[in-house]
Amino acid sequence: MAVYSNNPSCLISLFVTFFILSTHTLFSSCNASESEVETEDETPFTYLEGTGKGPRKWGQINPHWQVCDKGKLQSPIDLLDQRVQVIRNLGKLKRDYNPAPATVKNRGHDVTVRWKEDAGKIIINGTDFKLLQCHWHSPSEHTFNGTRYNLEFHVIHLSSNGTIAVIGITYKYGRPDPFLAKLLSHISSIGKEEKDIGIVNPGDIKFGSRKYYRYIGSLTVPPCTEGVIWTIVKKVRTVSREQVRALRDVVHDGFEANARPTQQLEGRPILLYNPGIKGGSK
Ligand SMILES: [Zn+2]
Repeated sequence: MAVYSNNPSCLISLFVTFFILSTHTLFSSCNASESEVETEDETPFTYLEGTGKGPRKWGQINPHWQVCDKGKLQSPIDLLDQRVQVIRNLGKLKRDYNPAPATVKNRGHDVTVRWKEDAGKIIINGTDFKLLQCHWHSPSEHTFNGTRYNLEFHVIHLSSNGTIAVIGITYKYGRPDPFLAKLLSHISSIGKEEKDIGIVNPGDIKFGSRKYYRYIGSLTVPPCTEGVIWTIVKKVRTVSREQVRALRDVVHDGFEANARPTQQLEGRPILLYNPGIKGGSK
């Protein structure tokens, strides 16, 4: 299994990629297989520090997970206003999704909806990232100025050269989320096996804002693979308590809370796309 941080030239190219993200199209040729994005069923890690397999120990559980400890591009992070650079020409996030057959699966540490056929893509600086799957974390993993919200939704995409791009959407308690509402009966009746749930339209995923944060990070579960292009929608949306409870009820004991603590920024820039602001600085 390729882990980005084991390859220095790969890491350098990721930094280069990051600094030119707003102007050019260039992505590293680092390889990440879909299996890295699809974490296995077995979950020998936990979110409870007292178990010896909690987030602080992830890097020691498996030699392929060392980057969880040693990496400098780890996620999630706190999105602190003072650290953010407002960039107007980062570009609108282009989504080109279409309805496709999907399955729902209880991975133990989360509930995942996976598209079995082509469900479309997002386009970042001219590069296509194919939609693979989506899943939820509660409470949220990314925080805004230290504030953690009730839920975070991750939509996972992969480019043809193996770069992962994740869209993150955060929620606080309030009105139900319409995308989750359509899936809730399937989630509540989830069994051990992956289950076909018919056509799911990713176009139903609502952002509610064009503003987003962009930074380079990692997967937030082992193997903590780095080089992930993160897009965090700035607007905090709403989800009902019942919806969050349904997600928490089906995962395994000890995974009711499945949010990794925030990681050090390590000097990484955080960009904010704000089409309403003129100029390139805050
Ligand atoms: Zn996730």
